Amino acid sequence: MTTSAEPGVTFDYAPAPESRSIVDIKASYGLFVDGEFVDGHGKAFKTVNPATEEVLAEIAEADDHDVDRAVKAARRAYDRVWSKMPGSERAKYLYRIARIIAERSRELAVLESIDNGKPIRESRDVDVPIVSAHFFYYAGWADKLKYAGFGEQPLGVAAQIIPWNFPLLMLAWKIAPALACGNTVVLKPAETTPLTALLFAEICQQADLPPGVVNIVTGAGGTGQALVGHSDVDKVAFTGSTEVGKAIARTVAGTTKRVTLELGGKAANIVFDDAPIDQAVEGIVNGIFFNQGHVCCAGSRLLVQESVAEDVLHRLKRRMSTLRVGDPLDKNTDIGAINSAEQLARIRELSDVGEAEGAARWSPACELPSHGYWFPPTLFTDVTQAHRIAREEIFGPVLSVLTFRTPAEAVAKANNTPYGLSAGVWTDKGSRILKMANELRAGVVWANTFNKFDPTSPFGGYKESGYGREGGRHGLEGYLR
Ligand code: NAD
Repeated sequence: MTTSAEPGVTFDYAPAPESRSIVDIKASYGLFVDGEFVDGHGKAFKTVNPATEEVLAEIAEADDHDVDRAVKAARRAYDRVWSKMPGSERAKYLYRIARIIAERSRELAVLESIDNGKPIRESRDVDVPIVSAHFFYYAGWADKLKYAGFGEQPLGVAAQIIPWNFPLLMLAWKIAPALACGNTVVLKPAETTPLTALLFAEICQQADLPPGVVNIVTGAGGTGQALVGHSDVDKVAFTGSTEVGKAIARTVAGTTKRVTLELGGKAANIVFDDAPIDQAVEGIVNGIFFNQGHVCCAGSRLLVQESVAEDVLHRLKRRMSTLRVGDPLDKNTDIGAINSAEQLARIRELSDVGEAEGAARWSPACELPSHGYWFPPTLFTDVTQAHRIAREEIFGPVLSVLTFRTPAEAVAKANNTPYGLSAGVWTDKGSRILKMANELRAGVVWANTFNKFDPTSPFGGYKESGYGREGGRHGLEGYLR
């Protein structure tokens, strides 16, 4: 589907759908425990394609008993095999997994787009290549842990819980460093996006990974609670909302479990008047419309210097009018489906609050498909710092625009949030970039770019965005003693 507000700005593309014949989605899936797929004792739930509302498969919902079985399998594998194996041998498995991911990248990308709703262009060119790179990167560390500076001993069994926005990428961020350090894992994917984690389980089998080193339990919050609360877990690694992160911190308080939390964000993307405006507009678009804005580090608050605000907004609206919203499997698509009906309701609710509180809402003319969950790219002007759309994470394709006059005002506004995950700075001056990076309370600061991820680079937040780092040498710290 094309959207065009100004004639001549864009033109129609012929549909270019990626074939889904490469994926083999089973009618139902069990749990992956001790190297095998097993039936769960609990109920089952359905996972749907958010672009069509088609039911894709029935998924086992792990109960306390299933979680216990998975933790026991991880403990056995830890005690008997994985913690005793030299790092150079562990590395071979990680390299093998990385290679298989690269070999099966098209299948993984198509399945991710079907289950999540993200455009194939992103799952194919961003998610899956970084997933493979992450395993390659941590494979390299497995026999060099003594040089990392965080101790050489693994912690034991890691309970890992991930969200739905980057299902496979978050899995890689969790599993690759844990395994490299000699830990075994029980991972729970999000309930709306379990399929690529289950395909990853098959990849573990294909790589001959010793049984029990990776276990995948599917389910919702209850399964996650059982996993976090299990007495034989040594480490909890969570990525998700700040609300659930706080609940997890309460659960593990007073125990010896180690915890890392990667939570929400409300990043400022700051555009100075000396910035290359066209590049900045690309960065603004990438910052908030990449992955439908379902990005913890999304540049959801645009702070633009007053003297260029009108020009930036004009060009931004023109660029937004060229974004194609529609079929995630179409290679022309820029913005795919919202991941779930619940998330769509939340985006609608907060956008309505934005209008009710006095901000001005704008979207390009945009025809949305009749089935599935969709939201047009949207921006709000006349936003004040007190507005809920300037404070709360919307986690959708919605940008709040604020202005500033001086660098000090930009810093004050950028830091005026309970979060502290990321920020972007657009300016011609290197010295200004360094000064801003020093003053912004954000774990990641991008300069003249946005939403760039690399396995060698640590990622994580300040304040309510959590604690601990994933990626790079720093990412080893949470899995070593
Ligand atoms: P969520 O917190 O609702 O769920 C995340 C995961 O936790 C899911 O697997 C869910 O089943 C599980 N869960 C829910 N309740 C639980 C409980 N009581 N105990 C244990 N597990 C529980 O978050 P979401 O809606 O899936 O994801 C969106 C959030 O994730 C956003 O806030 C986003 O910013 C954040 N996120 C952060 C990062 C980061 O690196 N900082 C990355 C991606 C997403």
